[in-house]
Amino acid sequence: MLTMLNVMKLKPTCSDCGASEFTISDEEARWKYGDGEDAYELSAVVPVYTCDSCGYQFTSGEARTIEQEEYRKYLAGQAR
Ligand SMILES: [Zn+2]
Repeated sequence: MLTMLNVMKLKPTCSDCGASEFTISDEEARWKYGDGEDAYELSAVVPVYTCDSCGYQFTSGEARTIEQEEYRKYLAGQAR
C-alpha cells in the first residue's frame, strides 16, 4: 500500500525536456461531448502543470479524474 501511495505521489516528468520541476496552477478546462444539437460542454477547474525549464504545459491524471466526475454529475442531473 505504501508503495502504491509513493507511486501515485511521484511527480510527472516533462514529456518535452524531461525535467521534473513544475509550477502547478488551476485553470478552467472544457470538454465537449457529442455532436450537433446533442452536443454539450462540461467545464471544471483542473490543475495544470507548467514545466519550469521549458514552459511546456500539460494536465495529469487528476484532470481526467475531474472530467469523469463532472461527466458523472452531468448524467445524474439528466436523469432527474
Ligand atoms: Zn520541460
